[in-house]
Amino acid sequence: MRKLDIAIAGCGIAGLAAALLLHRQGHCVTLYERFEAPQPVGSGLMIQPTGLAVLAKLGLAAEVMAAGAPVDALLGLNTEGEPVLEASYADLAMPQAFGLGIHRANLFGALYAAVQAEGIAIHTGHAVEGSSLEGEARMLAFSHGSQSPPHDLVIDAAGLGSTLVPKAAEWLPFGALWATVQWPDAGPFDRRLLEQRYARAEQMVGLLPLGEGKAAFFWSLMGADHTRWHERGMAAWRDEVCQLWPACEAVVTQLREPEQLTFARYAHRTTRKAVGERIVHIGDSWHAASPQLGQGANMALLDAWGLAQAIGAANDLPAALRHFLHLRKGHVQLYQWLTWTFTPPFQSVSVWPAVFRDHFMAPGSRLGPFRRMKAATLSGLLGSPLARLGLEAPDYPSLAASASSIRARASSLAQS
Ligand SMILES: Cc1cc2nc3c(=O)[nH]c(=O)nc-3n(C[C@H](O)[C@H](O)[C@H](O)COP(=O)(O)OP(=O)(O)OC[C@H]3O[C@@H](n4cnc5c(N)ncnc54)[C@H](O)[C@@H]3O)c2cc1C
Repeated sequence: MRKLDIAIAGCGIAGLAAALLLHRQGHCVTLYERFEAPQPVGSGLMIQPTGLAVLAKLGLAAEVMAAGAPVDALLGLNTEGEPVLEASYADLAMPQAFGLGIHRANLFGALYAAVQAEGIAIHTGHAVEGSSLEGEARMLAFSHGSQSPPHDLVIDAAGLGSTLVPKAAEWLPFGALWATVQWPDAGPFDRRLLEQRYARAEQMVGLLPLGEGKAAFFWSLMGADHTRWHERGMAAWRDEVCQLWPACEAVVTQLREPEQLTFARYAHRTTRKAVGERIVHIGDSWHAASPQLGQGANMALLDAWGLAQAIGAANDLPAALRHFLHLRKGHVQLYQWLTWTFTPPFQSVSVWPAVFRDHFMAPGSRLGPFRRMKAATLSGLLGSPLARLGLEAPDYPSLAASASSIRARASSLAQS
């Protein structure tokens, strides 16, 4: 295909990855982002083999791995101490695979630095309000009243709150309070586990290792209860957490002020038409979901890769956008359905989803073939997205070795 002039709305994970891939194909890329300057917002997330495969293609996998923490398995116990969610990366047919717990700012930082290093144009302070077609081009309209120049293609990577999709995302009743804490060295926590505790499906507390001596702590909370949580005060809340998971004392003593926690409201939306005339929605603007399965950032990276592959292979833009849909639609639909189905057993006020989880889902999932299926589901590999996108499974042993030498170099630089 000829060289395209591409506008990307949103400088998040999907937008930055798409910008790098398309710029490297020789297209002219401009990013438009509403923030004035990047800030280290948010807390932790998990990078799955799917996301890491794309980061490897971008040449960023070892760097990202050096900043994160390897996680071998997910373990969730109910109040009776019974394991009701266990999934291990060792059950994958992928040597030495693991999930990577990482602070969102570190993943963002690696992508953003690469975009800046390659001289891709970024216009910050540009909040996109809408777009319009004019002849053979699409233009973006910004909240301060100006318009972009005409572009051959607009990539909507503006996430959950995108203004370019016809339907806003629906808030789910539950969200969670998130905080980045120091890893509790004295505590009984396993550095290579993502651990969670549940009281029915009404309460969930979890700790995700992040690397660099940090962890992400999360506590599920209904949107409607957020004000009451503030009013009750931190001491009462810390007691509640420790009642559910006493070991968390070493974590919650670090949390003295409500401002140390960010309330993230979760939402679910699948944009019905992911492609239109000279526009394509990728990442959360196409498919937002609760982070229960920890896939959103990884799906955003797969979308970016799929779109670049489709553009690289097609002769014209409409064919490229059709091919993109063909590459990604099945996997997106599968995970939107899985996330929608498996969120209530972990976040619901009704008792029945938890009863189903503890008495049917958990025992059933321990049976032979389901172990591997569980690991594949957690890793984002169900539906074979890598093969479909022509991606190789990440080479964990060699990436881990490169990550250790990056860490060693950084620590000797810090000492000198
Ligand atoms: C608490 C929490 C935990 C999560 N945990 C995980 C996890 O463990 N693993 C995982 O894979 N995913 C996780 N996710 C989901 C993941 O963060 C998202 O799916 C992912 O960030 C989507 O990437 P994106 O690029 O589509 O959107 P975003 O990362 O949200 O980026 C969108 C960008 O667009 C910009 N923008 C928005 N509106 C406009 C506008 N009008 N004009 C211009 N710019 C705009 C934003 O400022 C932002 O920079 C989690 C999400 C939350 C909230």
